[in-house]
Amino acid sequence: MNIKPADVIRSCMTLGIFVSINQRLDAEIIEVVASEFGHEVQFISAEEQVEVGEEEVDDPKDMLPRQPIVTVMGHVDHGKTSLLDHIRSANVAGGEAGGITQHIGAYEVMVGEGKEAKKITFLDTPGHEAFTAMRARGAKATDVAVIVVAADDSIMPQTKEAISHAQAAGVPIIFAINKIDKDGADPERIKGELAQMNLLVEDWGGKYQSQDISAKKGTNIDKLLEKILLEAEILDLRANPNRRAIGTVLEASLDKGRGYVTKILVANGTLNDGDPIIAGEYSGKVKAMFNERGKKVKTAGPATPVLVLGLSGAPQAGETIKETATEGEAREIATRRAQILREQANRANKRISLEEIGRRLALGNFKELNLIVKGDVDGSVEALSDSLIKLSMEKIQVNVIHKAVGQIADSDVMLASASDAIIIGFQVRPSISARKLAEKEGVEIKMYSIIYEAIEEVKAAMEGMLEPTKEEQIMGQIEVREVYKISKVGTVAGCYVQEGKINRNQYIRIIRDGIVAYPVNEGQHAEFGSLKRFKEDVKDIKNGMECGVTIKNFNDIKVGDVIETYVINEVKATL
Ligand code: GDP
Repeated sequence: MNIKPADVIRSCMTLGIFVSINQRLDAEIIEVVASEFGHEVQFISAEEQVEVGEEEVDDPKDMLPRQPIVTVMGHVDHGKTSLLDHIRSANVAGGEAGGITQHIGAYEVMVGEGKEAKKITFLDTPGHEAFTAMRARGAKATDVAVIVVAADDSIMPQTKEAISHAQAAGVPIIFAINKIDKDGADPERIKGELAQMNLLVEDWGGKYQSQDISAKKGTNIDKLLEKILLEAEILDLRANPNRRAIGTVLEASLDKGRGYVTKILVANGTLNDGDPIIAGEYSGKVKAMFNERGKKVKTAGPATPVLVLGLSGAPQAGETIKETATEGEAREIATRRAQILREQANRANKRISLEEIGRRLALGNFKELNLIVKGDVDGSVEALSDSLIKLSMEKIQVNVIHKAVGQIADSDVMLASASDAIIIGFQVRPSISARKLAEKEGVEIKMYSIIYEAIEEVKAAMEGMLEPTKEEQIMGQIEVREVYKISKVGTVAGCYVQEGKINRNQYIRIIRDGIVAYPVNEGQHAEFGSLKRFKEDVKDIKNGMECGVTIKNFNDIKVGDVIETYVINEVKATL
């Protein structure tokens, strides 16, 4: 800010905070102090802080079509694993030599034959937990979500959860209605249940693609793959293979004999053998890469999963992996990141909370409040969600991104973390692990036993969220007794404080014969050019004292003018 440390310390003292020159300030104080000096603060993560060189911007003409990346989600036992297994094994016959032997977090399959053949990449950790955990780290490693529903069962809690998670991520959904070979399978009933949730499938005149399948017998899997390709075509997925690689870490571990093994999915660019890389706080050089068939590969382009050897540690799933210009650059950035992460670990996470809402709004454009509602019975979940959504107003939209009956679970916390949401629990409690996770992720869980109280509290928080209105407060009055014209300085007024306490930072207006002489434009505020007591610049002048005043951009001061000083107060708005 180009301000002396002493000034910062002084400004902290006026806030009643005594700090030393080498002390770290927390976010709140930084904000207040910076605003005292007329600066606005924006908080960024360690990632952003040490960006890898210049961000390459792709020219649209370099963007070539790429294959889609698909995640399979759904309720337990509805057939996610069977579907992935079938796709994987069926592909061995038509694909390259050698089956898929390695678990590398994802695999590619070929659909169609010869020239018409197209690829799809499947993430092979089914379920929305992994999907959302990655999203919480900022990774968007899925283009299309396939949601499996067993036709002999119904829409189950995890089906709903998977739908919420995909919707929150803005990923298109295709329904795979499974187990149609079974007695009692009734795909139409499932479509009906989806319709009740406002999810109309295509044969019911809606926008969602759906396919009846049997993962066990392999029925209609080809049709499902076709639908995935169709969805991908609509998305017009593109990437630039001719640039430095950037991708997502799917999984990483330490392997005896091979060192750190990182399974990644390239998002853009092409990773080559020998490229310097960085992921999180680890760096290195690609020593070797393998595909899902255990075959060594030299290059990996967009949407290709590969297993990479050569990183100095195991980054977290969802972390970004990037190719850098040199190994030295990678190492340097990794070291700096590690340092920042260590420092950040010592400080609290600033995620959304009810208290945080007002502050965020004052800072920027926080106009949406995301909530996850969990309750003991369906009726109260619905009632509470509806009332909360109704709190939406012109300026702030309230979204219930997920609602369900049951305990607050880890997956709720991860969804909240990924979507910057608050969890509202009505007559339910988090599991121990969910509570710990919430602490770690900085997710707020609010628990209530009275619906009314929950609504009132959210409403109160949203009042802080409303942009405050501004109100003027008169602080003092100065009379102009003498006027000197000084070359270079302009007009200096010799004044006397008639009322109040004058501060250099207060706004002013010149009143002549009871009429405002300056500033005359609405919304314009005038300021002191200087405020002196004898020859000294001062901050304040008390009632009954004399002072010398200049006014910024105004020299037409006359004897007998009255200078009124005022401040603008922000007033909390109410709903
Ligand atoms: P996941 O928990 O969603 O991964 O489900 P699984 O793939 O493990 O499947 C659960 C059970 O359902 C297994 O016993 C499968 O054999 C069975 N199953 C999966 N798909 C089908 C199907 O299309 N037809 C029949 N009859 N059984 C299936």
